[in-house]
Amino acid sequence: MTSRPPSRRLSDQLAAAAADYQAAVVIPHCPQCSNSCCRLDPLVLELEWKQVRTLWRIDEARAAFDRRLAAGQGPQEIRAGNGLYYAHGKPCPAFDEAAANCRVYGQAVKPAGCSDFPVYEDGGVVVADLRCEAVDRVGLGVALGRAIGPDYRIVADADPDFPFLVSLEARRKRPAKR
Ligand code: SF4
Ligand code: SF4
Repeated sequence: MTSRPPSRRLSDQLAAAAADYQAAVVIPHCPQCSNSCCRLDPLVLELEWKQVRTLWRIDEARAAFDRRLAAGQGPQEIRAGNGLYYAHGKPCPAFDEAAANCRVYGQAVKPAGCSDFPVYEDGGVVVADLRCEAVDRVGLGVALGRAIGPDYRIVADADPDFPFLVSLEARRKRPAKR
């Protein structure tokens, strides 16, 4: 049976509830996180060229940088692909280890993936990445359920290939039989 796509209003409510959860539960934990996602291990950071250029302080043209990267002479933690760049295995240069915070917080150069991690709404479903130690799957479900009201229940499913990725979907409750 195919379920109907969620309404725009429901998607907006879930997106707002996911953002509220990030603000209330995740972000306050970041300064004392035992394995910050900004160390990019195991996480991979997706970047556009202007973000690479700014964060890694590259002053050469993109073509020259790409050639250097392809020759194995660029930053070892960066790979190129599909017109984008992927950083992994070394802390993000914008990460201030001592203060445990992001030096580009609130700035346009901060990659979108940083703001989405670890809880975000996509197509009417909230995705949670349990590799973040601040995320509590049950608590998140309760928070989402509270936000969308008593007509819905939250159903959680782990990705079969990446079980740390959990989708939380709102399903309308069936009316009680008389
Ligand atoms: S893994 Fe989670 S708690 Fe740790 S720094 Fe990243 S978002 Fe914050
Ligand atoms: S840009 Fe900021 S939030 Fe994103 S990985 Fe780097 S330090 Fe972390």
